[in-house]
Amino acid sequence: MSETNPLTLLLLVALGAYFLWLVFRRLQLSVAKHPSLTGHSKIARRLSKRVPDYSFTKAEAFACDSPPKDVFERRSSAFERLSEQLRAQSTGSIELTRALDGGISDLNFTSRYRVPYQFSEVVKAHIPDQIFVEASEGVRIKDVDGHWYYDVGGSYGVNLFGYDFYKACTEEAIKTVGSLGPVLGPYHPIVVDNVRRLKAIAGMDEASFHMSGTEAVMQAVRLARYHTGQKKIVTFCGAYHGWWDDVQPGVGNPVGTANTLMLRDMDNRALRILNTRRDIACVLVNPLQALHPNKAAPGDGTLLSNGRTAGYDKEAYASWLKRLREVCTKRGIALIIDEVFLGFRLAPGGAQEYFDVRADLVTYGKTLGGGLPVGALCGTNRWMQRYKPEQPANICFARGTFNAHPLVMATMNAFLNKLEEPEVRAMQLDVDELWDARSASINEQLKRQELPISIAHMASVWTFVYQLPTRYNWMLQFYLRAQGLSLSWVGSGRFIFSHNYDEKDFEEVCNRVIAGAKAMQADGWWWTSAESPSVKKQLAREVLDARQSGRRPNKELEALTNARGS
Ligand code: PMP
Repeated sequence: MSETNPLTLLLLVALGAYFLWLVFRRLQLSVAKHPSLTGHSKIARRLSKRVPDYSFTKAEAFACDSPPKDVFERRSSAFERLSEQLRAQSTGSIELTRALDGGISDLNFTSRYRVPYQFSEVVKAHIPDQIFVEASEGVRIKDVDGHWYYDVGGSYGVNLFGYDFYKACTEEAIKTVGSLGPVLGPYHPIVVDNVRRLKAIAGMDEASFHMSGTEAVMQAVRLARYHTGQKKIVTFCGAYHGWWDDVQPGVGNPVGTANTLMLRDMDNRALRILNTRRDIACVLVNPLQALHPNKAAPGDGTLLSNGRTAGYDKEAYASWLKRLREVCTKRGIALIIDEVFLGFRLAPGGAQEYFDVRADLVTYGKTLGGGLPVGALCGTNRWMQRYKPEQPANICFARGTFNAHPLVMATMNAFLNKLEEPEVRAMQLDVDELWDARSASINEQLKRQELPISIAHMASVWTFVYQLPTRYNWMLQFYLRAQGLSLSWVGSGRFIFSHNYDEKDFEEVCNRVIAGAKAMQADGWWWTSAESPSVKKQLAREVLDARQSGRRPNKELEALTNARGS
């Protein structure tokens, strides 16, 4: 037997050690990922392609949990009634939806995923998709048929101080920059004041303007990569940071991404990854995740049973952010706090002030535009600089045609100015005190009335939590619409209140929530029986059936939907 050359032996040992190190590193990453499907984007994406398409006929839709005949009949006639009411009060909106003729992709998508997809054909055929609106006042909006609704959709978080506030910002802005028009490139002088104010709010040295929150986050990540020379970015399981590929791992992103590590939120295993890897450029934090750590934004479309859980612990989240800050500082990783959603809602200095944590880069958007589209990024010079003085050819390019558009700069300026008015400032103060009390009050009433729902909240952002495992919790959104509440397309998953809700309006919303929930209870949607198979078993059986029979969407209902144009 020939003897092994010592050099070869050494090489083999080194290779073995390197291999073991790789395995160890991969294992460390695996345990730092959340065990749910949301934490495993590749698997989720692969599985998503295998979920079979099936949809219920009307009769199946109300009986998929095998209810007794009387419950089925109550549900059927309630659905007819609800459908008639919503159709009768929305004739103008239905007409406009028909005129769109499937020509707006957003609506084509949301109308399918507003409810669990198995039910969406039946719902689409009978319940108008969308209300078209033409006026707003106070905390209400008016549809084209002349009905006023309480707005709890909050324009995705843009509407923080009430629509009249934003109308005033726009009016003022037109006066300020109307004579300039859309001149881009040179700045209107108002930019100087915006930068001064934003720097003060964020506690940073520089600002850049963009056209959306997504773009502001893109730029923050790009700068972090530029300055660290590293590619990987860390996000936390379930967090939303806009719709571009790198920050949207999992279902919803067709290509996936190799450079994003999506880790467990509020978990030491994630800190260990930050502490040990050398390839990480930045950590992105969306503080709204404090309401539902490690879970995606709660939409009714995924409400297959009562699977939604949420709960907010300010102290625990603040302490998590502190630990995150320490690790990022130690490792030279950029900590990006994405305040696009919550900025200005929690405190005058945003989430940084509210949680007492300092970011390296902070993004804003939505409400900051004073009613117009915007994104903004603030940061220290060290992170914001787009060139390296000692390497003149090594730059980080970022531009955008509409950045610092005069009209947007002027609405932003009106917004920032108004923040200093005492009644507006008051809407940013003691937010927890007010909304904790309001949330406790509605929960107390729901409990007293023995309704199987409650709300979890973070400041003025709510999500409904369901106590009963039924197939129909998503129906609540339509009962609430019938009560004159305007929800966003995610339904009961997210209520966003503007801070100009006074006690009277708030009480009115609570009364309507309770009335809607009572009607839903009376109509049998929360019927359950110990004898019925669990929702999970029901779903598994349906999926299996659909896979075996290759059942396609119900053509009859599809034809009906098209004919009605709803
Ligand atoms: N970050 C966060 C935290 C957000 O909530 C959003 C929007 N919901 C975005 C980024 C993206 O902003 P935009 O929709 O303006 O692109």
